[in-house]
Amino acid sequence: MKNRITLSLAVLLLACLSIVGFAQKGGGDSGKLKVLLIDGQNNHKWRQTTPVLKHSLESSGRFEVEISTSPPKDADKKEWKKWRPEFSKYDVVLSNYNGQLWPERVRRDFIKYVKGGGGFVVVHAADNAFAMWTEYNEMIGLGGWGARNEKSGPYIYFKDGELVKDTSKGRGGAHGPQREFQVVNRAETHPITNGMVPTWLHAKDELYDRLRGPAKNLTVLATSLSESTKRHEPMLMTVEYGKGRVFHSTLGHADYSMKCRGFYATLQRGTEWAATGGVTIPWPDDMPTADEVVPVTLN
Ligand code: ZN
Repeated sequence: MKNRITLSLAVLLLACLSIVGFAQKGGGDSGKLKVLLIDGQNNHKWRQTTPVLKHSLESSGRFEVEISTSPPKDADKKEWKKWRPEFSKYDVVLSNYNGQLWPERVRRDFIKYVKGGGGFVVVHAADNAFAMWTEYNEMIGLGGWGARNEKSGPYIYFKDGELVKDTSKGRGGAHGPQREFQVVNRAETHPITNGMVPTWLHAKDELYDRLRGPAKNLTVLATSLSESTKRHEPMLMTVEYGKGRVFHSTLGHADYSMKCRGFYATLQRGTEWAATGGVTIPWPDDMPTADEVVPVTLN
């Protein structure tokens, strides 16, 4: 009898532990995935785009977003000392940051977080950041500007339907005039792009071309045809870094570029994948077609 009671207690304890474990996996108390959005410096209008990124994720009902704003460019060491985001409290970190190099202890925390299985999402100009930070470049796979060149890694693009790794010399990062452009699905079996329409028209944006970087463990999910390079440039990508998952969207130059149903859907699904390794958020019924942009309005 005594043994049976002990056994029942042990089963009960295990059940409690698994419930606690499940609650943690689902993010905060709300069961939503916890996102830390980093901003504070950018050569883009981050004060306008951060609210759109937050709305994009939260409107799916799957995420709760907190924001950590870094000190401004002219901040002194004291202010920087106070800025230490607690990455490990979040399921996924989203960067809307392109500015001064983070202090060493923040960089160390961040590498540990992603390597250990944390999720990371990089949007548009965040892939211009930190050209000289080796680990960051491995996480984002490809980057632009900041004196990136052949030493940063190959160019990656699609030509005649084939993925090309091009080690030729030249600058990393460019774009033509802003316009609407088509985004093409290149990975129909990947959880993020599974079920995505073959082609959709994206809102007015910059089409990044000639990005280059280490491109290790990189998967190109979607591409767009650049008018300057005449080749299909990566728009959506994933990188596996240590135990961590990275989703990289080169889209999102301005608030109007982000207020696009296709941008919303791909950011939501990419962020969920980075956080959990799976995707449960469905494609919207009004996903753009190949020749019509679907704008999103914020209420
Ligand atoms: Zn831009």
